[in-house]
Amino acid sequence: MKAIVFAQHGGPEVLQYTEVPEPKLGHGDVLVRVRACALNHLDLWVRKGLPGVQIPLPHIPGSDIAGEIAKVGEGVTRTKVGQKVVLAPGLSCNVCDACLAGLDNTCRRYTMFGYLVDGGSAEYVRAPEINVLPMPERLSFEEAAAVPLVFLTAWHMLMTRAALRPGESVLVLGAGSGVGSAAVQIARLAGAQVIATAGSDAKLAKAKELGADELINHSKQDIAEEVKRLTNKRGVDVVFEHVGAATWEKSLASLAPQGRLVTCGATTGMEAKIDIRRLFSHQWSLLGSYMGTRGELRKVVALVEQGKLHPVVDKVFPLAEAASAHARLEKREQIGKVVLKV
Ligand SMILES: [Zn+2]
Repeated sequence: MKAIVFAQHGGPEVLQYTEVPEPKLGHGDVLVRVRACALNHLDLWVRKGLPGVQIPLPHIPGSDIAGEIAKVGEGVTRTKVGQKVVLAPGLSCNVCDACLAGLDNTCRRYTMFGYLVDGGSAEYVRAPEINVLPMPERLSFEEAAAVPLVFLTAWHMLMTRAALRPGESVLVLGAGSGVGSAAVQIARLAGAQVIATAGSDAKLAKAKELGADELINHSKQDIAEEVKRLTNKRGVDVVFEHVGAATWEKSLASLAPQGRLVTCGATTGMEAKIDIRRLFSHQWSLLGSYMGTRGELRKVVALVEQGKLHPVVDKVFPLAEAASAHARLEKREQIGKVVLKV
């Protein structure tokens, strides 16, 4: 089969479009003919190499996969050849206490397609049947691939970790990104007031279209000052963080008393400072969030099926041009998801 493979870490140039053997199925596995695979910042981290993480090489990246069932392995009962599917990106052991409690994203063996196992930047991918979800009929393969990782992540952050309630205010950083565009929609659906930031007017226009109430252009305006102005000096109840070091200070300065900062990423840097006196005197909560559960993904996909949440596809590249697709995401030129068509 054709696949995007890298044998060493580095820039987009290490991605090779080449021929590799088709994956072999184990008990309970299905073979998916990939039709679309959406990119995430995780793909960039995995390609560049992460300190302390051993990525098996050569490696096929790609966590967000939509396609058709090409083959079913022994023990597969619910899934039929030819069925259009979207894959839950998370893989876990399914037998530990966390997995049995439905908290698969806290499993010690949790990983994702394209992270510690081969992913979907290929014609075929092997997947456990438990990861298969029917693809929402209203979507194209490219749109379906744009759903799982970002909507799941944003849902777990806002609804589960930050326990967002109607009438609260949310600051969504980087609203032009995949996870940001998902967060704007989920926060809006939850009945919150949404303040969105982005670095260009085109990205802000998209955030407005998706339901943002207020817009901040962070290349021209100070985020914390604008938040204070928009909230009558109070600050927001929830800050949706994924940017990291570059915005950390402004994110804290935007929090209302008893505010919650929830974060899932650190694309601009991993080190941050905090004045502990401000943390306790304002009674803030700092919340980490990592992916989400398979159960949450089902809810999110149902909301997409119902037309209440909409994947945002920025640009579709043919699989062979994965290096250009990575470069586009790396330069943060995109609005929504960059997708590979296979
Ligand atoms: Zn487990």
